[in-house]
Amino acid sequence: MSPGATGPRILLRQLREVMAGSGSAQQRLDQVTGIIAANMVAEVCSIYLLRPGEILELYATKGLKPEAVHRTRLRLGEGIVGDIAAHSRPLSLRDAQSHPQFAYRPETGEEIFQSMLGVPILRGGRVIGVLAVQNRTARDYTEDEAEALQTIAMVLAELVTSAELIRAEELVELDGNATLPQRWEGLPLADGLASGVAVLHEPPVEVRTHIAENPLEERRRLDVALTELKASIDALLTETDALPGHEHRDVLETYRLLAEDRGWVRRLRDGIDSGLTAEAAVDRARIESRQRLGASANAYLRERVQDLDDLSNRLLRHLTGAQVRRRLPKGAILIARTLGPAELLDYDRNRLRGLLLEEGTPTSHVVLIAKALDLPVIGRLSGLNRIRERDPLIVDGSSGAVYLRPGEDAYQAYQEAVATQTQLRQAFAEVLQQPSVTADGVSVSLQMNAGLLIDLPRLRETGADGIGLFRTELQFMVRTDFPDTAAQQEIYARVLEAANGKPVVFRTLDIGADKILPYMEQSSAPETNPALGWRALRVGLDRPAILRNQLRAMLLAAAGRDLAVMFPMVAELAEYEEAKGLLWRELERLEHRGIAAPRSVKVGVMLEVPALIWQLAALLPKVDFVSVGTNDLIQYLYAADRDNPRLVGRYDPLSPGFLSLMRTVVRRCDTAGVTVSVCGDMAGRPLEALALIGLGYRTLSLAAAAIGPIKFLVRRMNCLQVTDYVTTLLDHSGRSVRDELRHFAQDHGLAI
Ligand code: PEP
Ligand code: MG
Repeated sequence: MSPGATGPRILLRQLREVMAGSGSAQQRLDQVTGIIAANMVAEVCSIYLLRPGEILELYATKGLKPEAVHRTRLRLGEGIVGDIAAHSRPLSLRDAQSHPQFAYRPETGEEIFQSMLGVPILRGGRVIGVLAVQNRTARDYTEDEAEALQTIAMVLAELVTSAELIRAEELVELDGNATLPQRWEGLPLADGLASGVAVLHEPPVEVRTHIAENPLEERRRLDVALTELKASIDALLTETDALPGHEHRDVLETYRLLAEDRGWVRRLRDGIDSGLTAEAAVDRARIESRQRLGASANAYLRERVQDLDDLSNRLLRHLTGAQVRRRLPKGAILIARTLGPAELLDYDRNRLRGLLLEEGTPTSHVVLIAKALDLPVIGRLSGLNRIRERDPLIVDGSSGAVYLRPGEDAYQAYQEAVATQTQLRQAFAEVLQQPSVTADGVSVSLQMNAGLLIDLPRLRETGADGIGLFRTELQFMVRTDFPDTAAQQEIYARVLEAANGKPVVFRTLDIGADKILPYMEQSSAPETNPALGWRALRVGLDRPAILRNQLRAMLLAAAGRDLAVMFPMVAELAEYEEAKGLLWRELERLEHRGIAAPRSVKVGVMLEVPALIWQLAALLPKVDFVSVGTNDLIQYLYAADRDNPRLVGRYDPLSPGFLSLMRTVVRRCDTAGVTVSVCGDMAGRPLEALALIGLGYRTLSLAAAAIGPIKFLVRRMNCLQVTDYVTTLLDHSGRSVRDELRHFAQDHGLAI
């Protein structure tokens, strides 16, 4: 049996006529069931809709007893209809009554119908009801019939949600499997707890019109959109040539293959031939592949569902011209496959509560920025496509747990965790204004990493001793054009103002690699290894006008005050000298013109390129300070891309080798009388901070949120004991001494 003798297009036309016709909502729904039953050559056609309380209510039927309408109700998961909704998948049953889920409802009179085919009614990927047909005889429904019923269900979703039929607010939406709150774990990237609602970085486009007026026109629209889609993927592939990591590229290559997949394109065209609009055809193919591949035991195939989802969404954007929406609801938890630092900064920070990434690494810049914004971040999460826009979520950034549509118990556990965190934060808050001195009287200066203006009030709140690293490039990244000297001067002056006499170390522009300024020229050819490429000071020395402008702005902003300037990514002494030369020239220029200069100017380097370690003898007499950028130092020392999720955890900074190197650096600086600090991410992690202090570091610069916990630790530790213990660890032969250090911390009441 084909889906009716009249053919799918005529059926859709009939449905549209009913939708546009007169009569009450109920009358029209009744008419629809009659049309579908006739078309599917079935004795029964019933529509169940999901009502508040997760109840499926029989809303209309042709063939069951009319008195059952609005009386027959099934809980989600109950009976065959409840099962279809709960799992969001079609069921085709030759003998429905012998199915273990069969729930008999005497008022329906359905005992005389043996076979049944039911499909979920979906809107925006969520279940809002179930459409079922039944036959008296035992029969096997064909795949074509199941597909046809699915198409009808899509159209029905439009009919049901069109405001005249049933008020939209009355409808309950539910994802397949939604009864079961879901929990899964990823890689904890930034601490913190948050509860809020999901906001998809690339939200799905909702299809509003399903039935086509003019199939030829739909065919043309689809072809145009497919051509545009392929062109846009090609353009993205060219752009991502310049980006670090292969993940973007791999994904895009997959998209390109899928976009050219004949099977997919044929299914889209078939959809249009059956009377659907181009958008509805895309949606139908998406639903089908979700059902077909999503249930597969093969993880590779399940991943392809997500690719197809993304691809369909892109195609829908081409068809509808929909833009990515940036307005956020309050308490937004952002969901993204990957996200660049500039993209994160594009969102309204006051409304963001957390970030979930499919990829992500602890020292990628997007994560460092999220930390500065005090957002919990979890990465390496697969299956984020299960999350729908506005789904409630709980995010625990310390354990890496995500709760999707949490149940009462999860909310309760969350409240308790928040209470514990608040207590802990209170304990941290109490130490914030107290001196950062160890139990045996050793001072450890805790400074703050900053870069955004919203960081500034935290300087006072956290009681930080100053700003040990001001990442100036972040100010460049939140703008749409290059800030001129005056604009930069204003920013730096605001920072110094907020610091109110506390020291601030301005790092000159560190762009390149994953920190791209869209308005600035990139290196002429795409870079194979951008992290090893044209970035940071290398850009500044090749484009001295940019660096000089920045230095001039810093000098002007610091008039009458103390200024500290730090150069990033110095690999050779000569680079430092050249950069310092530019700074002195700018200073002379000011003095020459009688313009007020800073009271004092200190100059330093970031130690993040290993080659510099072998130039310390020549370098140290020429610098006022050194700050160890462990994020990049580890990346270059181990030849391990800090943005590559596959390498996360592979090399532990708490390894005897790395710690020995860090001890060499601190000793050399101490001997030369040069202040040395650590401003990489490890300075803000308790065990790492413990090790660094044990090695002899007395200045750490960390994310604002880490200052409380680290000061808490400092005030409890005995520096001498820690030093002795850490020294013994340097002789270990293993890859990591993390466990040893953790046990030491536990035994000495230092565990946080
Ligand atoms: C570092 O490399 O450790 C550092 C602090 O700089 P950034 O993370 O900005 O590269
Ligand atoms: Mg760095």
